[in-house]
Amino acid sequence: AELYGIDEWSSGYFGISAEGEVIVRAPTAEGETQVSLMEIVDGLQQRGLQMPVLLRLENLVDKRISTLNDSFALAIEASGYQGQYRGAFPIKVNQQSHVIAEIARFGERYNHGLEAGSKAELMIALATLKNRESLIICNGYKDPEFITLGLQARKLGFKCFFVVETLAELPHIIERSQALGIEPLIGVRLKLSTKVEGHWSEDSGDRSLFGLNTNELITVVDELRKANLLHCFQLLHFHLGSQIPNIRSIRAGVLEACRYYIELVAEGAPLGYIDLGGGLAIDYDGTSSTSGHSRNYSVQEYCIDVVEAIQECLDEHQIVHPTIVTESGRATVAHTAVLLFNILDVTHFEPTEPLGELPQDCHEMIQNLWHSLSVIKPANLQESYNDLLYYRDKIRDLFHSGDISLRHRALGENIYWAGMQKVASLVPQLKRVPAELESLQEQIADIYYGNFSVFQSLPDSWAIQQVFPVMPIHRLNEEPNRQAIIADLTCDCDGKLQKFAGPVGESKTLSLHPIRAGEEYYLGVFLVGAYQETLGDLHNLFGDTNVASVRINTDGSIDFVHEIHGDSIADVLSYVEYEPNALYQQFRQTAEQAVRDGIISVADRQQMLAAYSEGLRGYTYFEK
Ligand code: PLP
Repeated sequence: AELYGIDEWSSGYFGISAEGEVIVRAPTAEGETQVSLMEIVDGLQQRGLQMPVLLRLENLVDKRISTLNDSFALAIEASGYQGQYRGAFPIKVNQQSHVIAEIARFGERYNHGLEAGSKAELMIALATLKNRESLIICNGYKDPEFITLGLQARKLGFKCFFVVETLAELPHIIERSQALGIEPLIGVRLKLSTKVEGHWSEDSGDRSLFGLNTNELITVVDELRKANLLHCFQLLHFHLGSQIPNIRSIRAGVLEACRYYIELVAEGAPLGYIDLGGGLAIDYDGTSSTSGHSRNYSVQEYCIDVVEAIQECLDEHQIVHPTIVTESGRATVAHTAVLLFNILDVTHFEPTEPLGELPQDCHEMIQNLWHSLSVIKPANLQESYNDLLYYRDKIRDLFHSGDISLRHRALGENIYWAGMQKVASLVPQLKRVPAELESLQEQIADIYYGNFSVFQSLPDSWAIQQVFPVMPIHRLNEEPNRQAIIADLTCDCDGKLQKFAGPVGESKTLSLHPIRAGEEYYLGVFLVGAYQETLGDLHNLFGDTNVASVRINTDGSIDFVHEIHGDSIADVLSYVEYEPNALYQQFRQTAEQAVRDGIISVADRQQMLAAYSEGLRGYTYFEK
């Protein structure tokens, strides 16, 4: 457990069983039920869902919603805050219908609502939310059609807010509202000067893309007053960025927003809601720090800080405590999905066979390399490393010029890898490690080939170097004595994982077990429930993976609530405008011509066409 930092990043939802398997500790009506992920993998296989599979754990969706709402309730009660909390899940963070349906179903008891950033997302919200007390927050650039839909939602009784992000939206809101005779609920997005650290820091500050500056805010107040709609201006919104690492920035942002709140109330806006947007971070690397993949606060601390900061600031001005709204996405769903995949193959960087004796007729450079290997000791590691590299390159040159044979070059490579392994094994004995030797472990790490696509399933790992916890889900009572990085199926040099959550923060290699012939080796990538699915792309035409949503019952039984088969090859081909049937016909003609030309028999043709046709229906990932 220590090696993979599971106790640090899993928030207690995952652990390791006595049998050495990763278990999910599923919150259920009567406490907690533990189920091994390997048991779920068995169930997936029985249902014909091959690896890779995106596993959704519905119990965790519910638990995250209750954690957020209960933590705010506790903070509100403890501080004597007079207002309430209302969550709004931002649909963009995971638009999958089963996820949104579960959030709406379970969230109803907390009046948990939805945030929509586009017309399509508003349509999802209107069709899914049943509870009229829940909020629908409309962010993003809004055209008249978007506004009309939102106003109609008002007529149906939904608490649907338009958050004005740019001044250009305001005349449309006023015009549509007057034309339809429906009063809107209006919010305004602030452009705060508080800057946060982390990857999404540009969502805040003067140059942030959205939000109104002070002059624009005054224009909104004046225009709304002129249109007799100032009483509709009830919500103040800001969003400092996602995954905010430092609680101090959150507090600073809230305090700055409160200053606007006070001033806008003084201007006559009857504000009643303060919306902090997203930003509540999770601990991807298990460091509980401001590393950028983590945060220095818990959900409870976040809630306490937010509630207290608002209370402190507004009490000074005797302003009624507003309803606190957050649009937490990542913190609601990241824990709820695990990507499971199997390992297909491994490349080692070590001698392919024991070195034995050096053959008599070796070139002098091979003898020198052999000598360099034989003298390696802690006192000369840098020198040995340099020599090994030098002689290996010389041997490569000799091969290129035709002066040594393929077999002797292969022997040279084996001696070289034996030397590098020996140097690496002695590096931990050094008091001061030279810079070049620091990265040696990565240079000689195995490459484990996983049956998945980074671009399709973990796009943030490629696009923004996001660290996700990765570990084997079984054999955890055996020592994982290999150091490895993980490559995917895309044959793209970016299609790999080489940053891992380790026992002391981020590490560049992952400890894995040697694979055993005839036995599957399964890994899980955790905390992938936020943002990854719809950002994923079709690089090399690897499509959507199989998806399974499970619910774990109190007695330990597993309900496979939804099973979705991933894209077939025909599906992904049609996404890029091929017509699978036409492709089949074209191939059929090629095969027919080959029969006419006497290259293949009619029976061959039948076999080829059957394989092509079956291939079109197959999974885009490696199938057994
Ligand atoms: N609200 C708005 C306006 C956003 O832009 C975002 C995402 O960046 C979110 C909410 C969700 O943020 P998070 O996933 O950090 O909770």
